[in-house]
Parts: sequence; C-alpha cells; structure tokens
Amino acid sequence: MSFDSLGLSEPLVRAVHELGYTTPTPIQTQAIPAVLNGGDLLAGAQTGTGKTAGFTLPILQRLNSMPAVATASGKRAVRALILTPTRELAAQVEESVRAYGKYLKLKSTVMFGGVGINPQIGALRSGVDIVVATPGRLLDHMQQKTIDLSHLEILVLDEADRMLDMGFIHDIKRVLVKLPPKRQNLLFSATFSDEIKTLADNLLDSPALIEVARRNTTAETVAQKIHPVDRDKKRELLTHLIKQHNWFQVLVFTRTKHGANRLAEQLTKDDISALAIHGNKSQSARTRALAEFKDGTLQVLVATDIAARGIDIDQLPHVVNFDLPNVPEDYVHRIGRTGRAGATGEAISLVCVDELQLLKDIEKLIKRPVPQEVIAGFEPDPTAKPEPILRRGQGGGGGGGGRSPRQGQGAPKGGNGGAAKPAQRSGQRAANGQQQPKPQGAKPAGNGGQPRRDGQRPDDRPRAVAHEGSAAQHAPRKPQGGNPGALLSGAKPRNDAPRGGNPARSGQRGR
Ligand code: AMP
Repeated sequence: MSFDSLGLSEPLVRAVHELGYTTPTPIQTQAIPAVLNGGDLLAGAQTGTGKTAGFTLPILQRLNSMPAVATASGKRAVRALILTPTRELAAQVEESVRAYGKYLKLKSTVMFGGVGINPQIGALRSGVDIVVATPGRLLDHMQQKTIDLSHLEILVLDEADRMLDMGFIHDIKRVLVKLPPKRQNLLFSATFSDEIKTLADNLLDSPALIEVARRNTTAETVAQKIHPVDRDKKRELLTHLIKQHNWFQVLVFTRTKHGANRLAEQLTKDDISALAIHGNKSQSARTRALAEFKDGTLQVLVATDIAARGIDIDQLPHVVNFDLPNVPEDYVHRIGRTGRAGATGEAISLVCVDELQLLKDIEKLIKRPVPQEVIAGFEPDPTAKPEPILRRGQGGGGGGGGRSPRQGQGAPKGGNGGAAKPAQRSGQRAANGQQQPKPQGAKPAGNGGQPRRDGQRPDDRPRAVAHEGSAAQHAPRKPQGGNPGALLSGAKPRNDAPRGGNPARSGQRGR
C-alpha cells in the first residue's frame, strides 16, 4: 500500500515522502479514503499510530480541491478547525499541517492559552484556512469575535477522550453551537467511554467507523518492565540505569509538579542533564525544554501527565514511570510516548511497596502482567511496610507542589483554584439538578443547538479534572498491601484501598 493509492494528490504524496514516510499506517489506510469521501468519521486510534496524518492529509486535499471562500472582509475564511486537549498537541498538529501542506497554498495557524492573544488575532485577520486550537483559547476568540467560523466545513476533535477527561465538555458544547450545522465532523479518541459515545451520537451523522488499536491496549512494540525498588532508592536507581545504559531522550513521569522539579534537580546534580515540564512552568520554558529534548541536547525530560500529553518525538526510546500514575489509563498514555508508528521502545516503571495496588489496577486494565526485574544492588527490603501515597510536598517521587489556578487548558479562571468542583460531564446532572444539554451543534437531528442558559459566565471554564497538584490526585491512599517480594512471587497484594470502577468516571480523578 502506498500513499498514492489512497487517492492523495501529488503535492501531498511528495511532502510525506520527504518526511520519510513510505507506507501509510493502518489508521491512515482507513481514514484517508473515508475523509476524502466527505462523510463523518469516528476513529479509535491512540497517539503514535499516525492519526494526525490520517486526518490532516485528506483535509488538506479536500480544502485544496474546493474553491477558497472569502469572508466579508475579503480574507480567506476558516474552513477547518482542529481541536486538541493540550497546547503542545495543538502546536504539533499545526506543525504537521504545515509540513504535509508545504506544497499547497493553504494557510494555517495555531492558538492556545498561556501566550499573548494579539499575534493570534493578527494571524486570523490576515486570513487562514485551517485553525488548530485548544478549546479555552478558541472560546476566548469566539467571545471577542476575533474569529469567524461561519464558513467552517470540517471539524476535528482530536484526542476527544482526553478533552473530556480534562473537563472540556462545556467548552466543546459552546463551540459546537456556534458552528454552521452543515459540515464534516471527525472524532478521534483512544478510548470509548459512554461519554464519548454520547458525544459521537450527537455530533456525527452516519459516521464511518475505524478502530486500529483495541481500547486500553498498550502498543506491542513497547517493551514494558517493572523494577521493584524501595521508595527512597528510586532516584539512585534511575541514575544508575541512565548511566549504565547511556540512555538518551528519557521521558520520566512523576506524579506531581514538585516531584518533577525535585527529580530534575537531583539528576542534574548527578551530572545528567534534566529539565522538568509541567503546568507551573511558563509556556516559553515548556517550549524550550521540549525543543532541547527533541534535538537531543537534553538527556532527560521529567514531566507530569498533563504536561506530557501530546509530546510527540519520533521514536522516543525510553519512558520511565518514576511514580506509577494514580489513574491506570494514564499508564497506557504514558508508555504510548515510546514505540510510536512501528518503532520499538522501552517503558520502565520503578515500583515501590506503596504502589502495588496501582500496579494491579494497571495490569488489570492492560490485561497482562508486566515482567519484573530486580536490579542488583537495589533489591527492595522485603520487610518494608507500605505507606500511604502522601499529599502535596511529601512522599516518594515528590508529593505535589503548589496548585496553579490554570493548568493545562480550560482550568478555572477566577475559579476555586482547582479545588473540588466536580467536572460536569455529558448527560450528568449539574448542581442545579438540571440535566446538562446534549452536545450542541449536532446535526439537524440534534436538539436545536441552544446555548447554555444556566448563568455561567462566558469566561468560566469547567473545572478541569486531572490537574497536576490538585487535591484529589494526591488524596491520601490507604496503604496498598503486600511487599515487593510478593510482587515478584505473583502473590496478590492486599487490596484495602477503596476503589470504584473507572476513577475517571467515578469522579475520583484529579479534583
Ligand atoms: P501521531 O499518532 O499522529 O501522533 O503520529 C505518531 C508519529 O508517527 C509522528 O511522529 C509521525 O511523524 C509518525 N508517522 C506518521 N505517519 C507515518 C508513516 N506513514 N510512516 C512513518 N511514520 C509516520
């Protein structure tokens, strides 16, 4: 199978060949013809599968083959809108749009929060065909009437599950009601919760269905391994592994921002170049750290889950879970950063006695045990007692640092500092007892596209869940039983922590 045979035009095929892509990935093989057909699409694809090219290439072709539309002011009108959950992903998607479209005359721009709005306004004024945006900043533009979406033809919701996890459903609904009803809608999601299905039902009209990776599966190309270790030996073990194997481009995950800072400092003291990337860092510091990591000058990037979402580095060889994530799905997302698009990668988790229940939950989700290897000199103490995973500022891997009022996109503005207001989800009852409206801007069969009338200020953001450093993410967990020896023998650790189904859905997550 070649890109030519998928119906793509010569300038696009030339651009992808120049990028070194010779064979389309499975998602591309299926998505490209479906999008070229003009119909709606529901695609189940994890990051790393090549999904970005899967929607970008046919969108470029469609826009290029249709006559450009002018706004009242005579500038080119926005005809495609791609929404992503994070700034980094937005930036990367727009980079892809530029790279794949380099031989076409289409113009694109990216817009996200944390940076000045004026350059974005300037870009919009000069006329663009394709906008890649995070929902919060897009809404700012819509409210300020600095963007005209009345000519929109194609809408993409990329990583829709992450957008819902981050509490963006209301922002998305507010965007949808303002869009012209007749358009092509593409929804990409790694997982299919009931909320995603509801969103898809309302948004998509007889969509083509594509699924290239089973839900919550981990890529076969990623070698996963657990190193059982005592909680206070994790940093030393990490340094040992990096130095012994001379690892470069190591993406290390910590549970908290404070833990990320502390670990980056400690690694630097160990003569390993490391920087932390998280929501308390300025956008320019995040961009700089990412650029240095990408070009290989930075050996280790220490990241929290939210900051790491959307990081796309070709063939990232090493992902290390310095702390296991509280939410098992995040494990799948974390290790999806390696072994991308067919490359092989290695995902290492340093697991102490406190994290045995988290490990059990992860293995249940991915439906297989992760092989374990004790590193000589770092054998865990078999008599060690599990301790609760501590609140902010404490604990192995660093309990979280201070809270930032606006982390990621769509965190509350003037809100409650990221505190415990439940994220409202599609179909869930709001505090006032009203059923939330269904996703708006649905096809005509939808519910008429009425905007919210619940008095919410236009600049209110839904309370983002899964904020780094937010209270519930660091809520004390009960000790999670067993000892590292039991880990190795396969004995079941005691399960005395209260658990309840999917934490993302049961509302435990990140509040
Ligand atoms: P994505 O899933 O869109 O984040 O893409 C993951 C990575 O795969 C990106 O670094 C792309 O540059 C790369 N990629 C996309 N399509 C192909 C392809 N057909 N062949 C090789 N690499 C690709």
